Parts: sequence; C-alpha cells; structure tokens
Amino acid sequence: MTQRLIDLRSDTATRPTPEMRRAMAEAEVGDEQLGEDPTVNRLQAMVAELLGMEAALYLPSGTMCNLIATKLHTRPGDEIILDRLANQYNYEGGGAAAVSGLSIAALSGERGIFSGAQVAGVIRGPSPHSPRSRLVVIENTMNAGGGAVWSLAAIDDVVQVARAHGLKLHMDGARLLNAVVATGIPAATFTAQMDSAWIDLSKGLGCPVGGVLAGTQEDMELARRYKHQLGGAMRQAGIIAAAGVYALEHLVERLAEDHANARLLAEGLAELPGILLDPATIETNIVFFDLDPTGPTAAEVAAALLSRGVRIGAIGGRHRMRAVTHLDISLADVEQAVAAMRAVVAH
Ligand SMILES: *Cc1c(COP(=O)(O)O)cnc(C)c1O
Repeated sequence: MTQRLIDLRSDTATRPTPEMRRAMAEAEVGDEQLGEDPTVNRLQAMVAELLGMEAALYLPSGTMCNLIATKLHTRPGDEIILDRLANQYNYEGGGAAAVSGLSIAALSGERGIFSGAQVAGVIRGPSPHSPRSRLVVIENTMNAGGGAVWSLAAIDDVVQVARAHGLKLHMDGARLLNAVVATGIPAATFTAQMDSAWIDLSKGLGCPVGGVLAGTQEDMELARRYKHQLGGAMRQAGIIAAAGVYALEHLVERLAEDHANARLLAEGLAELPGILLDPATIETNIVFFDLDPTGPTAAEVAAALLSRGVRIGAIGGRHRMRAVTHLDISLADVEQAVAAMRAVVAH
C-alpha cells in the first residue's frame, strides 16, 4: 500500500475538492480576453467588493499581480520599498527589476513587519542622482515572517509616512484572508489605504491557479493592458475562475481550521528535543522552526521525514524548516506529522 503524502511544504499543495471541480465543470464561460467571460467577471466583482476597491482583475498568478502593480505605480529607474523577507524581493525571479526596471530598498523589519520610521529612513531626497522613491509594498500575512499579521496600527504607521512623501502603497495579500480570519478584521479594512491589493486563490483557498488584483477603475484598465502585454490574457478562463468563486463562497471561514492545526502542530513540535519553536508566535497557518545547529541539517531532517510520508520544507537557512497547514491537512495529519518528527529526532 502506498502511503498518502502529508504535504506540509506549502499551502500551494492543495488540490481542488470534488465540489470545486464540479463548480469548474459547470462554469459559464466566454472569451475572457474580450471581457466576455461571465464567471471571470463575477469573480472580479466579488474581489473588488471584498477589498473595497473600484475594480479588480483576474490574473494567472500572484506573481503577475505584484508585477503589474509595480508597473501601475512606478516608472523604470524608480525605487520600491519592501521588507527583505518579502516574496517579491526573494521569490519572483527579480521581475520588479527585469520587467519594471526598478531599484529596491529592502528593510529589516520584525518578522517582515517594518515601521514608518524605517520607511522614512530610506526615502530618497529630490536629487536627480538618486532613484525616485515611489512605492511601498506591505505583505500581509507575511509568509517568510512566519505568517505574521500586520496590525492596523502598523499599517497606519507606514501609510502616514508614505503619504507624507507622496509614495504609493501596494498590499501583497496572497494570504490576506488568513489575516482576516485570524483577526476578524474585514479585508477591506486592511486594504482601505492601499492603492492596490490582491489575494491569491491558489494558496489556502485551494484553487488550482490564479490571483485577483484590485484597485481603481483607471488602474485596472491599465492593468488589463499590462496583462495582455505579459501574455496573461486568457480565453475561456471561467473554468478556472469558477474555482475562485467557489472558494470565496465556501472556503474562507474554514481557514480557521488551518490556523488551529498550525497551532497544534507548533505545540507538538515545540515539545520535541532539538526543535526551537515558540508556539505563541504562530498567528496563522505558517510554522517556521529551527533545529539545534549542532544536530542534523534541515535538508537531512526533511529527507528523513519524507521517507515517513511527511513533507516539511527545508527553507530559510541550514537548520530552519517551514510547515504550512491547509485545506488538505487534517488534525489526524498534524498528529501523524508530529509523530514522524518525534521518530526522526529520536534517531
Ligand atoms: C505565493 C506568493 C506570491 C506569488 O503567488 P503565485 O500565485 O505563486 O505566483 C506572492 N506573494 C506571497 C506572499 C506569496 O505567498
């Protein structure tokens, strides 16, 4: 019998549920490139409303959401300000530089959350010798910051400084709905002061593909042009957009289960010898932890876990690992993962 893999490497591991697949199979479709796909249009309207923005645009990936946002708010030679742990800084192929021609000022925040004073510290003067500071990117929740949530006060602190200097603000909300479910704060409250924001459908929401970017009507019209230029315009995309509609209607509240499972996973792991982890830092569905630096490396532990049917990522350093809970991870899976880790560290 082949054992089912308990895949905690990322919340991208989710597979569409049978109900989601049914919604996809039954989706009404049209030519998305011409704006005629009713399911895509419905998804865009839902996300615009969710984020309190005038309009929204369905895109093939979250990476393209971030990329197009940079194109909306900047010109080549400008500088964007983000945290050094930001996804856009580390995991998007250097697209901001390669495609949008941007310089990047990376801040050292606390678990990816930086202050207005830190932003003020890197804003350039008016000299033509310097790049022009133009955009601040806030990632909420903060993936590499262990799923940390930006509080409204922390957002406000950055917004005050950004606005005082005429900077634009963009929220990478790949996991914004995790922040919403963790805090009870509406998504539109988190994004109220942003010029653009987006949510990913292919993370904890369980869709196979896609992200939705939102902003002003005018910006979204321009974004549609960039989408086309980048080759992101599609045809009968209602088939995949239907998964997003389904997820927003049925799979948001249940993110709370992922958070509870992440907390249980963290508590279980923290009790094991050689694992350094404070469960109190787990706010959403991401659990980073460190291994005793005198023991086996993260890669070695990951390999040993995999042979026991559990996949946890060796990520963020030689002795650092990341586990992410999601739609396809049950409480029993969490217990089994802790048991597998217990067996591995005992060796
Ligand atoms: C996954 C992720 C992205 C990129 O989204 P894709 O849909 O994988 O392209 C961007 N930002 C954050 C915070 C992410 O977690």
